[in-house]
Amino acid sequence: VPQVGLHAGAGLLGSQAVIAGLAAPAPLKRAMIFGFMLGNLLPDFDLVASVMMWLHDQTLALSLHRGFTHSLFFCLLAASGFSAGAVIVGDREPRYFGFGVSLGVLTHLFADMLLWFSPVDVLWPLGFFGIPSEINLWEGWTTPPLLERLLTAAEFGAFALYYRWLWHLSVRYGTNPDLRPQLVRLESTCLVLWVAYSALAFDLNPSLFEGLIFVPIGVLFMPFCLYVTVRMRATIEAMATPALSAARARYSR
Ligand SMILES: [Zn+2]
Repeated sequence: VPQVGLHAGAGLLGSQAVIAGLAAPAPLKRAMIFGFMLGNLLPDFDLVASVMMWLHDQTLALSLHRGFTHSLFFCLLAASGFSAGAVIVGDREPRYFGFGVSLGVLTHLFADMLLWFSPVDVLWPLGFFGIPSEINLWEGWTTPPLLERLLTAAEFGAFALYYRWLWHLSVRYGTNPDLRPQLVRLESTCLVLWVAYSALAFDLNPSLFEGLIFVPIGVLFMPFCLYVTVRMRATIEAMATPALSAARARYSR
């Protein structure tokens, strides 16, 4: 179960907390909040590889998900990579962006461990050296197949909620007005798909259902969610200075 839409929502929810105690100038807060949003979304892009592999070998495909991109190693790599970049370009912004990405990935890992009934390879790549690297809070639990399928269908509900939330923020802060009609269309499309896939979940043979839902999510809806998030950067960054952004929006009306 990918639940990218849900991770996106978690990013919006957590973004205030991330910068709450941060005594930094506004541009650095903005870089951090945008990094945090992307960090929440990025780990599940291992699914794009999984989906491609799924067409060949289903077991191998599943083993690719929740590995490297769901590890503390990946968090460290993001933070240190962007910190090094910050030193090289002599600007603090990439470092704050990198911290944001790391915190976002960390939030994603916790959400996956708590919610999705499956192990997360937090200490990847130690597993290759025979050291237990997976954390599974759901040991011994088997998700009923129908529930699993309904949760996968609910991914479209989560996308819809995320787009609605972005629309709402864009109105509040007066940002990205040109994208609002697209957000409304996206939200309705995702709601319709949620209902349709939920109905199919009861009726369709399980592996046909998985193929029919994971392929569009992996190759279309997930990349598109990332694309929308990047396009809505001004709106997401406006959350770094909510009072100021809202006042500016009122003034410009
Ligand atoms: Zn994940």
